[in-house]
Amino acid sequence: MLNQEQTLKAVQVMGDMFPDAQPSLRSRTPFQYLVSVMLSAQATDVSVNLVTPTLFKDFPDPQAFANATETEIQADIRSIGLYRNKAKHIKAASQQLLRDFDGVVPQTHHELMSLPGVGRKTADVVLADAFHIPAFAVDTHVTRVTKRLKIVPESANTLKIEQIVMSKLPEDLWITAHHRMIYFGRYHCTARNPKCEVCPLLDMCETGQQRLGAADTTAPLKK
Ligand code: SF4
Repeated sequence: MLNQEQTLKAVQVMGDMFPDAQPSLRSRTPFQYLVSVMLSAQATDVSVNLVTPTLFKDFPDPQAFANATETEIQADIRSIGLYRNKAKHIKAASQQLLRDFDGVVPQTHHELMSLPGVGRKTADVVLADAFHIPAFAVDTHVTRVTKRLKIVPESANTLKIEQIVMSKLPEDLWITAHHRMIYFGRYHCTARNPKCEVCPLLDMCETGQQRLGAADTTAPLKK
C-alpha cells in the first residue's frame, strides 16, 4: 500500500500532468449544480452540459421543477441515460428542498442525502464544488486509480476508499485530489488501455509494472 507520503507524491505528479483538472459540469447556482450532478450518474459530463442550458432556461429553480410535470422535465433530458428516473428524482428533490430547506441547497452530507436521488457521491461533489467544503467524492475513475496504485486495498468499497484517501492526504487537498484522479483516470490510467509504458508513476505502481512485465516477459520488472 502507498503510505501518506507516496500518496501525496502521486497526487502531486497527477497535478503536474493535469494542472487544469477541475469540475467540468456547468451551472450558475448550487441548485443547478446539484441537478447537473444528479443527471451525470452513468452519463458523461459532456452529455449533461449539452442539455442543461435548455433545462435551466425552462426550469431555473426548485419552484419551477416542483411545479413541472415529470413529462415536461423528461422532454429536456431525454438524451441522458435513466432520464425517467432522474426527472422523477429532480422533481421530488425540488419539492423537498422547498418544504424542508426553504428552497436552499443544504451544506451537510446528512441533509443532502435526505433528498431523493442524492447518494454519498453526489453529496460529496456538491459540498466540494458548489460550496468548497472539504470532501472527497469517489467515482469509477477514482476507484480504479486508487486501487491500481494501491492507495487502497482491492476489496475497498466506495466509503472505505473515501475514508482511506482522506486519511492519507491533507484536508486542503481532498477536492483537488478528486479532480486530478478523475483526469488521470479519464485520460491516462484508462480502464482498458492505461499508458503504463509512459507513466511517471510507474516506479511506485506494482499494477503497471506487472502489466508491462506480462506484456514483455523478456523484460525485467521495474523496481
Ligand atoms: Fe495506471 Fe499504469 Fe500508471 Fe499504474 S503505471 S498508475 S496502472 S497508468
